[in-house]
Amino acid sequence: MHEMSIAQSILDIVKEEMAKHQVEKLAAINIAVGALSAVVPSSLTFCYNVLVDKTEFAETRLNVRVVPLTYSCYACGHDFTSEEMTFECPACGEADPMLTAGRDLTIENIEVAETEKE
Ligand SMILES: [Zn+2]
Repeated sequence: MHEMSIAQSILDIVKEEMAKHQVEKLAAINIAVGALSAVVPSSLTFCYNVLVDKTEFAETRLNVRVVPLTYSCYACGHDFTSEEMTFECPACGEADPMLTAGRDLTIENIEVAETEKE
Protein backbone atom coordinates (compact mmCIF):
# COMPACT_ATOMS: atom_id res chain seq x y z
CA MET A 1 0.00 0.00 0.00
CA HIS A 2 2.00 3.00 -1.24
CA GLU A 3 -0.61 5.47 0.03
CA MET A 4 1.01 5.22 3.47
CA SER A 5 4.32 6.62 2.23
CA ILE A 6 2.49 9.26 0.20
CA ALA A 7 0.51 10.34 3.27
CA GLN A 8 3.78 10.51 5.20
CA SER A 9 5.47 12.68 2.59
CA ILE A 10 2.46 15.01 2.45
CA LEU A 11 2.78 15.45 6.23
CA ASP A 12 6.53 16.07 5.93
CA ILE A 13 6.01 18.79 3.33
CA VAL A 14 3.18 20.38 5.31
CA LYS A 15 5.24 20.39 8.51
CA GLU A 16 8.06 22.20 6.69
CA GLU A 17 5.61 24.80 5.38
CA MET A 18 4.17 25.26 8.86
CA ALA A 19 7.63 25.81 10.34
CA LYS A 20 8.47 28.28 7.60
CA HIS A 21 5.34 30.32 8.27
CA GLN A 22 5.27 29.72 12.03
CA VAL A 23 1.88 28.08 11.89
CA GLU A 24 0.96 25.86 14.82
CA LYS A 25 -2.33 24.32 13.90
CA LEU A 26 -4.10 23.48 10.67
CA ALA A 27 -7.81 23.15 9.93
CA ALA A 28 -7.32 21.35 6.64
CA ILE A 29 -4.88 20.17 4.01
CA ASN A 30 -6.24 20.33 0.47
CA ILE A 31 -4.64 18.13 -2.12
CA ALA A 32 -5.35 17.36 -5.75
CA VAL A 33 -4.83 13.87 -7.06
CA GLY A 34 -4.65 13.17 -10.76
CA ALA A 35 -6.93 10.45 -12.10
CA LEU A 36 -3.80 8.87 -13.58
CA SER A 37 -1.61 9.17 -10.50
CA ALA A 38 -2.49 5.65 -9.24
CA VAL A 39 -3.47 7.03 -5.84
CA VAL A 40 -6.75 5.79 -4.37
CA PRO A 41 -8.26 8.80 -2.52
CA SER A 42 -10.16 6.74 0.08
CA SER A 43 -7.05 4.72 0.79
CA LEU A 44 -4.98 7.89 1.11
CA THR A 45 -7.37 9.49 3.60
CA PHE A 46 -7.46 6.23 5.55
CA CYS A 47 -3.66 6.14 5.80
CA TYR A 48 -3.55 9.81 6.69
CA ASN A 49 -6.04 9.27 9.53
CA VAL A 50 -3.94 6.40 10.87
CA LEU A 51 -0.77 8.51 10.75
CA VAL A 52 -2.21 11.60 12.43
CA ASP A 53 -4.07 9.77 15.18
CA LYS A 54 -3.08 11.29 18.54
CA THR A 55 -0.78 13.86 16.90
CA GLU A 56 -1.11 17.62 16.47
CA PHE A 57 -2.81 16.85 13.14
CA ALA A 58 -5.60 14.76 14.67
CA GLU A 59 -8.14 17.52 13.99
CA THR A 60 -6.75 18.51 10.60
CA ARG A 61 -8.85 17.28 7.70
CA LEU A 62 -7.30 15.95 4.54
CA ASN A 63 -9.44 16.97 1.56
CA VAL A 64 -8.73 15.10 -1.64
CA ARG A 65 -9.88 16.47 -4.97
CA VAL A 66 -9.61 14.21 -7.99
CA VAL A 67 -8.31 15.95 -11.09
CA PRO A 68 -9.62 14.46 -14.35
CA LEU A 69 -7.30 13.73 -17.24
CA THR A 70 -6.94 16.97 -19.14
CA TYR A 71 -5.62 17.15 -22.67
CA SER A 72 -4.64 19.83 -25.13
CA CYS A 73 -4.58 19.16 -28.87
CA TYR A 74 -1.45 20.23 -30.76
CA ALA A 75 -3.29 20.61 -34.02
CA CYS A 76 -6.40 22.64 -33.18
CA GLY A 77 -5.73 23.84 -29.61
CA HIS A 78 -8.85 22.15 -28.25
CA ASP A 79 -8.69 21.51 -24.48
CA PHE A 80 -10.73 18.64 -23.12
CA THR A 81 -11.01 16.23 -20.22
CA SER A 82 -11.49 12.50 -20.35
CA GLU A 83 -12.37 9.75 -17.91
CA GLU A 84 -9.70 7.53 -19.37
CA MET A 85 -6.59 7.57 -21.50
CA THR A 86 -7.32 8.86 -24.97
CA PHE A 87 -5.17 9.11 -28.05
CA GLU A 88 -7.38 11.14 -30.33
CA CYS A 89 -8.69 14.71 -30.24
CA PRO A 90 -12.53 14.66 -30.18
CA ALA A 91 -12.67 17.95 -32.10
CA CYS A 92 -10.38 17.33 -35.07
CA GLY A 93 -9.39 13.67 -34.78
CA GLU A 94 -5.68 14.45 -34.58
CA ALA A 95 -3.71 11.68 -32.88
CA ASP A 96 -1.76 12.00 -29.65
CA PRO A 97 -3.13 15.02 -27.75
CA MET A 98 -0.87 16.25 -24.94
CA LEU A 99 -1.79 15.30 -21.37
CA THR A 100 -1.68 18.57 -19.40
CA ALA A 101 -3.16 17.51 -16.03
CA GLY A 102 -4.22 14.39 -14.19
CA ARG A 103 -0.89 12.71 -13.59
CA ASP A 104 0.34 14.34 -10.41
CA LEU A 105 -0.42 14.67 -6.77
CA THR A 106 -0.14 18.24 -5.57
CA ILE A 107 -0.77 19.99 -2.29
CA GLU A 108 -3.06 22.83 -3.35
CA ASN A 109 -3.12 24.70 -0.07
CA ILE A 110 -3.28 24.39 3.68
CA GLU A 111 -5.89 26.04 5.86
CA VAL A 112 -4.63 27.52 9.09
CA ALA A 113 -6.81 26.94 12.13
CA GLU A 114 -8.05 29.99 13.99
CA THR A 115 -6.13 30.35 17.21
CA GLU A 116 -6.96 32.52 20.15
CA LYS A 117 -4.71 35.59 20.25
CA GLU A 118 -3.75 36.86 23.66
ZN1 LIG B 1 -7.71 18.78 -32.23
